[in-house]
Amino acid sequence: MDVELVAITPDAEAVIERAARTCYQSADRATTDSAAAFLPKLLAMGHESPFEHAYATFRIAGCSRAASHQLVRHRLMAVSQRSQRYVSEKSFDYVVPPSVPDSLRGEFEADMESIRQLYVKWKSYGLRNEDARFVLPNACTTELVISANFREFRHIFKVRLTPHAQWEIRAICRQMLESLAREAPTVFRDIREAAIKADPQRSDEAEGAPRGKASRHQ
Ligand SMILES: Cc1cc2nc3c(=O)[nH]c(=O)nc-3n(C[C@H](O)[C@H](O)[C@H](O)COP(=O)(O)OP(=O)(O)OC[C@H]3O[C@@H](n4cnc5c(N)ncnc54)[C@H](O)[C@@H]3O)c2cc1C
Repeated sequence: MDVELVAITPDAEAVIERAARTCYQSADRATTDSAAAFLPKLLAMGHESPFEHAYATFRIAGCSRAASHQLVRHRLMAVSQRSQRYVSEKSFDYVVPPSVPDSLRGEFEADMESIRQLYVKWKSYGLRNEDARFVLPNACTTELVISANFREFRHIFKVRLTPHAQWEIRAICRQMLESLAREAPTVFRDIREAAIKADPQRSDEAEGAPRGKASRHQ
């Protein structure tokens, strides 16, 4: 799975500080390093709207449709996703969950190949991509570009980086959080520390699960 930071608001923390200080008419108190103390105070008092002035865009490729379906539930996020209507899935890639033991991996892959053959069969009967896709699995990989403001990213990380969230969306969010924490450390420090505390092992899923390709036998 690839998680790539495509774009981010330049000087994001300064932009947030500038916006918030407008509320208090204290722009004259901004210095080159004042954001480090000022932004946590905003968060502590629940003054989160200034964090909506900074945005980031990510490209996520190779995650499953099972994971993307969860991600796109976040309504304050803009999404552009690979279409299963305009793009054929006759050679679809798929994600193998880490819980599938090595001894059964071959069986999982054989099932994916059977599904690929079903898809091709229904296409050969004249169904369009949009209807042939009804036989595709949630394991099928996808690619999407998402954009959100920092307030929404903080929210997404809070709910998707707990042990209650599914392993793949945790892996996606962890990678996005690492990127954002590098670019805007003050904004995401508390979220990152909480995520590490909740899941100190950063276990199996950190780099994404193993993948297969149903077209392999073509
Ligand atoms: C562990 C976990 C398990 C889940 N299980 C299920 C499940 O079994 N079934 C299921 O259907 N979903 C499930 N979800 C998805 C969940 O219900 C939400 O749809 C998803 O997490 C999006 O979160 P959200 O609505 O808080 O955030 P966003 O859509 O990202 O919105 C951000 C925030 O904006 C505010 N907001 C946005 N829209 C509105 C609105 N219309 N009215 C008022 N306030 C709004 C809210 O404060 C919201 O928290 C699960 C999520 C998690 C994290």
